[in-house]
Amino acid sequence: MKTIGLLGGMSWQSTVSYYQAINQGINETLGGLNSAKMILNSVNFAEIEKLQHQGLWHETAEILTDAAKSLELAGADFLMICTNTMHKVAPEIAANINIPILHIADATAEKLIENKISKVGLLGTSFTMAQDFYKSRLTDNFSIEVVVPCESDQTIIHDIIYDELCNGKIVDLSRQLYLAIIDKLFAQGAQAVILGCTEIALLVKQSDTKVPLYDTTEIHANSAVQLALQS
Ligand code: GLU
Repeated sequence: MKTIGLLGGMSWQSTVSYYQAINQGINETLGGLNSAKMILNSVNFAEIEKLQHQGLWHETAEILTDAAKSLELAGADFLMICTNTMHKVAPEIAANINIPILHIADATAEKLIENKISKVGLLGTSFTMAQDFYKSRLTDNFSIEVVVPCESDQTIIHDIIYDELCNGKIVDLSRQLYLAIIDKLFAQGAQAVILGCTEIALLVKQSDTKVPLYDTTEIHANSAVQLALQS
């Protein structure tokens, strides 16, 4: 079994989900007392969040690159960045380490293609929804058309992530707001909606809506399990 390196803490609320899902996946496959071989470097999200909102992405990349190097040095065979947003600096991190990064958007796109989804809605931080690093990966590499919420809805989604979900607050009204936005994306022709922020599944579950949801945390974790068990 390969050793998985987790760049976590963004936020720690979703790193918990990763830790659980990866161990569950390994255990379901191998049975008995089997669990995942993992190394976690969990950063201080307050530092990252401040730099994000100041637009200082290179500075975030430096912090994450140091953390990634420590995981490589500690024996990780591959790396996971446990947040969609920080994949913005994945190329910079990748250029400074010698182990592969299991990209969250690639794992998600592969699942979408498997299920013949060619037009998808995307929820995430405003960085993920408004900027190009994530959407263009889906469009250019996988020919998946991406629809994002209007600007005011993006603000609602973004603020709930940072003010509530990253603080572990689950608010019923926020769930209703998310579900209404998911319905709008569906009405715009999206066949499914990507929960493109690793905390969203803490708030919205598949059982809350008929629109097919693609939870990036679960998909990313499952694909890590597969990769870890590949010989
Ligand atoms: N976990 C979130 C994501 O998947 C947001 C926190 C962050 O900015 O990293 O994008």
